[in-house]
Amino acid sequence: MQIDKIYEPQRFEPHWSRWWIDQGIFHASAKAGGRVFSLVIPPPNVTGSLHMGHMLEHTEIDVVVRWHRMRGDNTLWLPGTDHAGIATQMVVERKLAEEGLDRRQMGREKFEERVWQWKQESGDTIKRQMIQIGASCDWSREHFTLDADLSRAVREVFVRLYEKGLIYRGQYMVNWCPRCLTALSDLEVTHEETQGHLWHIRYPVNGTDRVLVVATTRPETMLGDTAVAINEMDARYLDLHGKTAQLPLMDREIPIILDDLADPEFGTGVVKVTPAHDPNDFEAGRRHNLPRIKVIDETGHMTEAAGRYAGLDRFEARKRVVEDLEKLGLIAKIEPYMLNVGKCQRCKTIVEPLISTQWFVKMKPLAEKAITAVESKRIEFIPENWTKTYFEWMYNIRDWCVSRQLWWGHRIPAWHCGKCQEIMVAREAPASCARCGSAELEQDPDVLDTWFSSGLWPFSTLGWPDQTEDLQVYYPTSLLITGFDIIFFWVARMIMLGIECTGHEPFRQVYIHGLIRDAERQKMSKTKGNVIDPLVVTPKYGTDAVRLALLIGAAPGTDIVLTENRMESARNFANKTWNAARFLFSNMERSGVEPWAPDPRRAYRPEADTETLGVPLEDRWIFSRLNSCAEQANAAIGQYRFHEAAQAIWHFFWHEFCDWYVELKKLRFQENTGLDAHWRNALAAFETALRLLHPVMPFLTEELWQRMSDSSSGRPVSIALAPYPQYSHEAADLTAEREVQVLQDIVGAVRDLRADMKLDPGKRVSGALHARGKALQVATANLPAIEAIAKVKLSFSQASLKGAVRSTHEFDLALEAPAAEIGAHRKRLEKELEQLEKNTANLDAQFANEQVMAKKPAKIIESMRQKRSEYVAQAAKIKAALDGLSE
Ligand SMILES: [Zn+2]
Ligand SMILES: [Zn+2]
Repeated sequence: MQIDKIYEPQRFEPHWSRWWIDQGIFHASAKAGGRVFSLVIPPPNVTGSLHMGHMLEHTEIDVVVRWHRMRGDNTLWLPGTDHAGIATQMVVERKLAEEGLDRRQMGREKFEERVWQWKQESGDTIKRQMIQIGASCDWSREHFTLDADLSRAVREVFVRLYEKGLIYRGQYMVNWCPRCLTALSDLEVTHEETQGHLWHIRYPVNGTDRVLVVATTRPETMLGDTAVAINEMDARYLDLHGKTAQLPLMDREIPIILDDLADPEFGTGVVKVTPAHDPNDFEAGRRHNLPRIKVIDETGHMTEAAGRYAGLDRFEARKRVVEDLEKLGLIAKIEPYMLNVGKCQRCKTIVEPLISTQWFVKMKPLAEKAITAVESKRIEFIPENWTKTYFEWMYNIRDWCVSRQLWWGHRIPAWHCGKCQEIMVAREAPASCARCGSAELEQDPDVLDTWFSSGLWPFSTLGWPDQTEDLQVYYPTSLLITGFDIIFFWVARMIMLGIECTGHEPFRQVYIHGLIRDAERQKMSKTKGNVIDPLVVTPKYGTDAVRLALLIGAAPGTDIVLTENRMESARNFANKTWNAARFLFSNMERSGVEPWAPDPRRAYRPEADTETLGVPLEDRWIFSRLNSCAEQANAAIGQYRFHEAAQAIWHFFWHEFCDWYVELKKLRFQENTGLDAHWRNALAAFETALRLLHPVMPFLTEELWQRMSDSSSGRPVSIALAPYPQYSHEAADLTAEREVQVLQDIVGAVRDLRADMKLDPGKRVSGALHARGKALQVATANLPAIEAIAKVKLSFSQASLKGAVRSTHEFDLALEAPAAEIGAHRKRLEKELEQLEKNTANLDAQFANEQVMAKKPAKIIESMRQKRSEYVAQAAKIKAALDGLSE
């Protein structure tokens, strides 16, 4: 078992990541039977490469998935990517712009070809990255949302919903991006508080000498006003009902109507009504049958209907309208006003509410069942507080505009007849019009919102609408791990569409992970320049180390701080584990022991030493500790408390296995007696520990596990398929734990005392130990080990000890130091004592000066008193130590 001196993850990580796939280690078989654990990946967008947030998500998923696989579950992690409609189209459009090209010049077909090219590149990068970080997906089941079978599922769902009346086409007010030239769903609009103005405009009332004052933040829209509204409860204006107002600048007579749109408590209590450019006015317009006059077009310019303002950009028109009103003396007042401006999430252009004909999904009927699913806990959110977020949105759900004026995506399965305008929704292109028989049919040019297809992801990827074996075995899936930012976009829609299409909730649990932040707890962003790129740090520290650094901070409900320091410590941890293996493997070779590895499928019980016929204390202890670490790790992973699992395993490896067990075993190997049992116990303990660590650090553990001989043929080919260590009541050995605790306490006391006396830690010292009861027994039985590890020569004392002593309720320990060192130690102590006494005297002098004291705040006086008592206590300790030295 040759092992390199230095831990170099770069040398073996690429090998194992390939090997796992070539060997089909992560391949799930629907026929295998058994308890099922299945999970679909939140498909990353094919917009580039994966960032650290993805790596966190994939690492957490991988830990859970590997853990289930090792527990013997029929485990599937289904991977894939998302075409990500608008996001990907924009990336490609930007690339084209760099080449001086425009998609409209290229035409739809050529453009789509370019996007597919890009998809290939980005998809390959993503897959390569996931393989690199050890994501244990079943790549034979990889999917892309635009795959033929998934597109078939999309059409099937669209047609079914349409036939049920849950999809309709309608003229509605939508959020429109004049830059992207597409409708946006409410969720694709971000709102920003912006300083704007409220313009108060006078509208003369015809046939009277009165005016009505309306207020607006968008004066240019007045050009499209078709009414003025007052409230029927508002006595101030009631007599004007039925009359008309004269719309300034347009010279149009518009009715004065009664509508709740006007709030007597707000502003003047009068509002203008622009049905074509405001969602609330649109509704009011429907109530009163008002004409809709569209004065702003899809590109954000004024239409012919805007009269002399036609052709102007909407913001230029605003300026001109205000100027002209001012000239006419029709501006009553202008006040500063904070408003919530909606912007396109993708390009930040101010969104324009426009009326257009779009496809919608009726959400209320779908939402009801999805609410019940979570209320009845058939789906559980972890942490639980996300449930509230989910309900808030679901209770206020609005119809979902699913058509997008894009080219990249699933084309809407609707065909328009050129002759009679009939619209046919169908799974396949119809040959002729169902109404007039014309063959002049054209498919709707729009595509579906990207979340429509990802909403079907948990079942479309398993073969739905066919009742495949995969669908029967792996659906509903067990768990979803994702970010909070897509609870509405994605999680809620999967729940609604899953229940609607399959009759089952698509998953049982949803674990919402945190965000990655830097050392100052700031979000990582390109503009701040604090981004940690997995492509940079994984080669630097090793994938395993980055995984561990992420997990150690991944407590549910909190964000994760990731720093170079953390990754460095994690690499040190990997190093330490590597060195423990090196010690075991190389000593074994030196001692000429036959290579041996335990069979991980059987619980190993430490063997008795053939000389003493007992199981060595350190072996009893380490197996008991392994057992309790297994208990902690299983409980923690089962509850997605990744930080607890990582910390427990870290503590075990570093502070128990490496710091104590290996040190104790070193001494045994020097004794050179009864070696076989010692070796087997040590190797079995290490092998078990590797399996505990495997889900967290898959590469290092596979590498070391494979180096352990597999002479016990029949063991699994990979540690990834070996059983995860489980807690067993019989494996707990509290006596051994208690005894090693005493041993550790005595060694710790020697180290502390040595440090107190400022003795050279490398030099052996002499000392005396007075131990009581059980401690005496342990100390006597393990004296050589204590002496070797603590570098001390101990004599047992019958009487309790005084002087330079460490005492616990179980023992006193004193160290002797060479005369020269005692002299130096005494000098140091005397100097410290002198300083303390000076400080005390100094304070006393101040206390004595009443004038000075009278000016001091009570807080300061209090802290002075505190300081004084600390000095006195410290001085007493040093005096006692000095007394001890003179004895
Ligand atoms: Zn936009
Ligand atoms: Zn027709």
